[in-house]
Amino acid sequence: MRTFNFSAGPAVLPEPVLRRAADEMLDWHGSGMSVMEMSHRGPEFISIATKAEADLRDLLAIPPNYRVLFLQGGAMAENAVIPMNLLGQRRGADYVNTGEWSKKSIKEAGKYCRVNVAASAEDRNFTYVPPQQDWRLDPDAAYVHICSNETIGGVEYNWIPDTGDVPLVADMSSHILSRRVDVARYGVIYGGAQKNIGPAGLTLVIVRDDLLDRALPITPSAFHWQQQAAAESMLNTPPTYGIYIAGLVFEWLQEQGGVAAIEQRNIAKAALLYDYLDRSAFYVNPVARSDRSRMNVPFFLHDAQLDSAFLKGAEANGMLQLKGHRVVGGMRASIYNAMPIEGVQALVSYMQEFERTHG
Ligand SMILES: *Cc1c(COP(=O)(O)O)cnc(C)c1O
Repeated sequence: MRTFNFSAGPAVLPEPVLRRAADEMLDWHGSGMSVMEMSHRGPEFISIATKAEADLRDLLAIPPNYRVLFLQGGAMAENAVIPMNLLGQRRGADYVNTGEWSKKSIKEAGKYCRVNVAASAEDRNFTYVPPQQDWRLDPDAAYVHICSNETIGGVEYNWIPDTGDVPLVADMSSHILSRRVDVARYGVIYGGAQKNIGPAGLTLVIVRDDLLDRALPITPSAFHWQQQAAAESMLNTPPTYGIYIAGLVFEWLQEQGGVAAIEQRNIAKAALLYDYLDRSAFYVNPVARSDRSRMNVPFFLHDAQLDSAFLKGAEANGMLQLKGHRVVGGMRASIYNAMPIEGVQALVSYMQEFERTHG
């Protein structure tokens, strides 16, 4: 039986995608092979990877001067390889600290370059995005790094920073494809697939091609964007099954009407939950209204002693993985593209009932 799965990641996938993958598991399109068994250089898999990239380009309207890389290592690996690939002759980079994932990026980058924290939301416990007028950018920075959706704190940029000629680099792991994005405003967009794209193990990097000549000589080949771009992401074996599932998710998104259509649904889903949280005196979401994430909604019960009863009841009602991240506690509902509005409606009904019986 399928449940409503509110996990932050690895996370819910569209049911039609899972069914199709199951149908094609033993014999992909009459090839006599599972996708997992195919050579990554054979015509069958090349056709899968080519279509996945074309569909992603179509969904995000990626301009032709951007390269799409399908790599391994996750966003955490990119935290290290971003400075290696982008520093060139420069020594430092700007980072904006909006929460747990920003902090991880800052810590990792600090091993490879001088990090200037241009702005931080720590003063208000990471519940907002510092406005750009408060940023202190270094004109000599190699790039400016942001986490455009903080998966743990539930804070999302609803605007795109203007960094002039300095390339803007965004960790979009947990909201890529959830909303329209003007790719041309970014130098690099990256993310792990396991939140809103597909299974864990696939990492997406979208990089403007003029930035491909800045890698430090120490950059590992498997993470060297220019070498990987030249090899069509096949310098080493790419995560083939992850690319295949991502491709099915891209086709599913196109059937849903594309990113603009799914964005409207995501707005409606998030509004349903936040409106209820704001009406209730029993639950609270601490994030500034203008910076609330549409994908990850943390919330707290007024009495934390009720947390375990809340989670137990949710599970009994078929709603899983609502426990908040251990760093912030409380609850978190991740409502990615693949979460139907019925899941959010069921959650709000359950929350109302829990409030009625425990408030
Ligand atoms: C999950 C997540 C990561 C970490 O991704 P890994 O694939 O585990 O390396 C990094 N950044 C954000 C915003 C995330 O949500």
